[in-house]
Amino acid sequence: MKIILLGPPGAGKGTQAKVLAKQLGLAHISTGDLLRQNVSDGTELGKEAQGYMNKGALVPDELVTKMLKTRFDRPDVRNGFILDGYPRTLKQAESLDEILKEKGFSIDKAIYLDTSDSVVIQRLSGRLVCRKCGANFHITNMPPKVSMACDNCGGELYQRSDDKEETIKNRLEVYKKESSPVINYYAEKQKLERLPADGEAGAVLETVMLLFKKHNDSLKVK
Ligand code: AMP
Repeated sequence: MKIILLGPPGAGKGTQAKVLAKQLGLAHISTGDLLRQNVSDGTELGKEAQGYMNKGALVPDELVTKMLKTRFDRPDVRNGFILDGYPRTLKQAESLDEILKEKGFSIDKAIYLDTSDSVVIQRLSGRLVCRKCGANFHITNMPPKVSMACDNCGGELYQRSDDKEETIKNRLEVYKKESSPVINYYAEKQKLERLPADGEAGAVLETVMLLFKKHNDSLKVK
């Protein structure tokens, strides 16, 4: 399976992608995670990207696309992948088509996690992330068992610097302007599946799994 997850920040792309990747044995490619790794490693790319990320702006297409292309050189993508956080602009959608063509891949589905603004703001402003394993928690929706410690690995939980209220608003505006046209791009290619995603993560995951089952069944019939 080769899947793209689309949707605003806070739609649950990362949460869903982590579980799906594990259950289905797919590579999880998150451009946000790759960029944050570059920032914490202090690479040239990380230094360039950090300013944009702190403001909630998009990192320039060329930088992110170059980084993604390198990620596609790793062999794990051959068993299938879930792309989370890319493409975020029409230009990136076109670049992705080129990268995939070079690799001989094609996308099965672009799943749009349709989420309302109020849910996005509530989710992001309470989100906590584990420094060690990257697991996500939420102050009220999914609190950790021990305050500020990860249930999975005991690592320290922190609030992402771009999850502050002002930055969230900016990220939503950027999303509406730059990223929402990408939804039509995949609709026109008959690849888009729109799923309501305001509900809690477990319920959304069930809908996504049903969708995959339907897709696999239809492939078997063919
Ligand atoms: P995310 O973890 O997906 O919410 O991404 C966090 C931040 O990384 C975004 O607000 C952007 O600044 C940057 N970023 C991640 N993916 C992309 C992308 N495909 N294009 C441009 N910027 C990106």
